[in-house]
Amino acid sequence: MLDSVRIRLTLWYTGVLTLVLIVLALITYFIFWRSTLQRTDVNLSELAEAFLTTLNAEVKDQSGPDSLKFAGQVAITEHRFRDHVFAIFDAAGNIVVSSQDVPPTTPVSGSSADGSLSSPSFQRFLDDSARSERLFGEVNGGRDGYRGFARHFFSSGNTYMLVILQSLHPQQEMLEEVTSTFAWVIPIAIVLASVGGYFLARKSLAPVVAMSSQAGRIGAANLYERLAVQNDRDELGHLAQSFNSLLDRLSQSFERQQRFMADASHELRTPVAILRGETEVALSQQARSLEEYRESLGVLHHEAERLTHIVEDLFTLTRADAGQYPLQPRDFYLDELVAECVHSARTLALAKKISLNFEEASESESPIRADESLLRRMILNLLDNAIKYTSEGGRVTVTCRRASEEYVLSITDTGIGIPADLQPRIFERFFRADKARSRAENDGGGAGLGLSISRWIAEAHHGRLELTSSDSGGSTFTAHLPAAPISSATSS
Ligand code: ADP
Repeated sequence: MLDSVRIRLTLWYTGVLTLVLIVLALITYFIFWRSTLQRTDVNLSELAEAFLTTLNAEVKDQSGPDSLKFAGQVAITEHRFRDHVFAIFDAAGNIVVSSQDVPPTTPVSGSSADGSLSSPSFQRFLDDSARSERLFGEVNGGRDGYRGFARHFFSSGNTYMLVILQSLHPQQEMLEEVTSTFAWVIPIAIVLASVGGYFLARKSLAPVVAMSSQAGRIGAANLYERLAVQNDRDELGHLAQSFNSLLDRLSQSFERQQRFMADASHELRTPVAILRGETEVALSQQARSLEEYRESLGVLHHEAERLTHIVEDLFTLTRADAGQYPLQPRDFYLDELVAECVHSARTLALAKKISLNFEEASESESPIRADESLLRRMILNLLDNAIKYTSEGGRVTVTCRRASEEYVLSITDTGIGIPADLQPRIFERFFRADKARSRAENDGGGAGLGLSISRWIAEAHHGRLELTSSDSGGSTFTAHLPAAPISSATSS
């Protein structure tokens, strides 16, 4: 049950609301209790003043030793209320007059249960009031205790103390009423609020539920479907939009993957078909000369090499895509590597009577920390292309120089060039500007993966590879490689 967000939200909401209501009830109770007490105190002190005014007026009309007692009785009769107890004590602590029995001033054991004022607390109150001019205090007794007020006054040259006790029963009754009101209002409010909260949570989560069931229906077959965006400005709209853009990226990468697979199988099909055709021809003829067998084996070997090459390239790209191609950086000199590559490509160039030159920069050596075999692969790819797409008698020039924090390696040929409209696409996988030419003119022509791999190699070294210029007079490819040591150990 707690696995449902709806229920969890409702429980949280109800819990917080209960806490808030309880705190509010406690605060309300406390404020109510305090103001009642304050009101009682104000009432007591006003009553005391009125009582003393009456008493003084009566004392003047009386004479004799018991004049205060008689005046007190008159004042008590005048100011008597059901819930009040009046008493006047003389300086020795003896009762001069009182409205009803007040406890004896000597402590006796007793409790408030019998309805009379409890002696010990009353005694304490009297002791305390003897020390101060005016005093408010609690006195046990009656049904819910009394609030007491004591005040000293002079009459006929003597000091007396007036004590008024007001029963706290009416206040207590009111407070109990407030408590009992809270006791039924709070649970009803909680029940109503939690039912409302549950429906609210249900309503607000309904679009999420709809989105999740819609998302659950999207699979490889209908990756083009998108979630409906009700309101693109609210949180759920943002969620749907994020999910949709995730689907966009997924379907793009899915499409790329499919295209890659289709292109790869297409590229592999040709050499495999040649291999099969050649072996079938060789096997179908009974008597073949050694020369003919050698020729067939040569074709088979060539196609097998081409297949190996394509498979290796595909493997490299797949690992590069997955970020799993580990770079093995080491320190070496870039100009030496370029010279080695130029040397290796010389045979190819000679075969086409192409002059291949490496114009070394006059400045000193070019130390670099990089994956040597990957850089070799990139340079050989570029050289191979330059020779492949340059006609007999042409020229290929390689330069390598340092420009501030990077090495700039350029390979310029006087070849056929790349049409301007196709130039932006030549780094795409399996892209060949002129399919017929790239496959037929050079034996074992590439699958259109060389430049993609070369660009990845430059980027894996935090550099870049660009086609700087290309027209009917030839092309120039330039690789920029940082001279600073590369930091990551794997490709990204
Ligand atoms: P390929 O294996 O076909 O050479 P690449 O990825 O190396 O594949 O090159 C992609 C395409 O770019 C080539 O098919 C070719 O059309 C074009 N290209 C690459 N280098 C050159 C160049 N130096 N001169 C002219 N065209 C080039």
